[in-house]
Amino acid sequence: MTIEWKTEAVSYAIDGEFRISRGAKTQVNAIRVTLHESGASGVGEAVPYARFNESIEDSIAEINDTLASESLLPTRASILQKMKPGAARNALDAALWDLECKRNNCRITDLIPGLVLTPRTTAYTISADAPQNMHAHALRVKQYPLLKLKAIGGEDGADLARLSAVREARPDAQIILDANEAWDETAFTSIAPTLQSLGVVVLEQPAPEKRDTFLTKIDSVDICADESITDIHSISRLSDAYTMINIKLDKTGGLTHALEMIEFAKQRDLKIMLGCMLGASLSMAPAFIAAQYADYVDLDGPLLLKEDNEHPIVYNDSQMQPPPSALWG
Ligand SMILES: [Mg+2]
Repeated sequence: MTIEWKTEAVSYAIDGEFRISRGAKTQVNAIRVTLHESGASGVGEAVPYARFNESIEDSIAEINDTLASESLLPTRASILQKMKPGAARNALDAALWDLECKRNNCRITDLIPGLVLTPRTTAYTISADAPQNMHAHALRVKQYPLLKLKAIGGEDGADLARLSAVREARPDAQIILDANEAWDETAFTSIAPTLQSLGVVVLEQPAPEKRDTFLTKIDSVDICADESITDIHSISRLSDAYTMINIKLDKTGGLTHALEMIEFAKQRDLKIMLGCMLGASLSMAPAFIAAQYADYVDLDGPLLLKEDNEHPIVYNDSQMQPPPSALWG
């Protein structure tokens, strides 16, 4: 038997511009793999990320090489051994989960013992901008009780001005502040003491990976590792300042390994955020499964796009609903 599959690049227009510390973009570029077996098809989508030296072309080539070297469909367990953590493995892992559901005419809840899908409150991201624009944006999205703000470092006090502007607009909101590695020690020590009073519950990846030794715990504010965390091995290398990890399937290389990481992190009393790269509903669907076990959910990708997949995930304001089977799983 030969394996039948299709890999392709897909893109989605962002609603406006998305700006973080590393730059701005107006389009999401993703990869999609579709597997066919016994009349059934399984699909998976993932978003390669330049921060981790990934490209669309390399990721598609990695999937094609993996499948071309096999005479039978690989298993989710076997690709954990053969492929590195990242977007390529994530797309293939997602397609294998979906194919298993479609082949057996079941849902993913039948494949994971004890799994019950319930709607989850997702954070809504306000990308970095001038303080008055972020203030106005925060007022426009009053239906979202959990906001994620992008900080960008640089000029003295600018991130504090952005945070204060949003806090003034939305004293009711809980805030995740994500610096995407943009802060140095001076920025951290000057802003950290004000965070709790400004409504921040999580400070995400303030300092660059491997240049974060100055971080210390902050009263009542969790420090969350994002760029510093990829797979299970990276968890053990984190300093004690981190009390939370941001698990994204494009970093872990799929739902299968994400579930292993969640168990490992919980044994170490680390809280969990389940996040995403900016992407469409097909990327969010397997992440929603892992999100059932998370303390915070940040899966707002489709809310920030102008277009989405057919049979998209429904968001009732901040309440993210389970993916329909026609989409995935
Ligand atoms: Mg982040």
